[in-house]
Amino acid sequence: MCQPVLISACLLGDNCRYDGCNSLISQLKNASINWIPVCPEIEGGMPTPRLKSEFQDTASNILNTGKGILNEVGEDNADAFITGAKKSLQKISGQTVKYAILKSKSPSCGFEQVYDGSFSGKLIQGNGILTQLAMDAGIKVISSDDTEKWFELLDRKIK
Ligand code: SF4
Repeated sequence: MCQPVLISACLLGDNCRYDGCNSLISQLKNASINWIPVCPEIEGGMPTPRLKSEFQDTASNILNTGKGILNEVGEDNADAFITGAKKSLQKISGQTVKYAILKSKSPSCGFEQVYDGSFSGKLIQGNGILTQLAMDAGIKVISSDDTEKWFELLDRKIK
């Protein structure tokens, strides 16, 4: 049987994005994979739709201090992001999960790129909170933008 793979729920069509929409990728949704879909922002108790939030610090510092993710009106909701990411990872506790496919650029799910905190669309290097925790736990994270890598993973059926 294929090993389970953690995935951002919005990639499978859940309308859990901050704007109430999804980021469906049909090839992922239609693949015969034992997906474990999570939305850390919903797990953290945030409503949908919700205000956009961006990092003011690195994921590691945010995880250490519990501060540093501001929304568009300046409220720091790092707590909810951290709680939601931890609850998301609890869903795979006791299972062997080697890979995660996570939505690019998100403050929760982004891999190697996040918005710079100025709400102007500029990107900087960095990982989302769930991504950082997953990587710290030894899970290999693939960005939703890296189609070559996740197609290769689907072809291998996650052996
Ligand atoms: S990117 Fe992550 S946190 Fe954002 S909607 Fe998708 S699953 Fe939820």
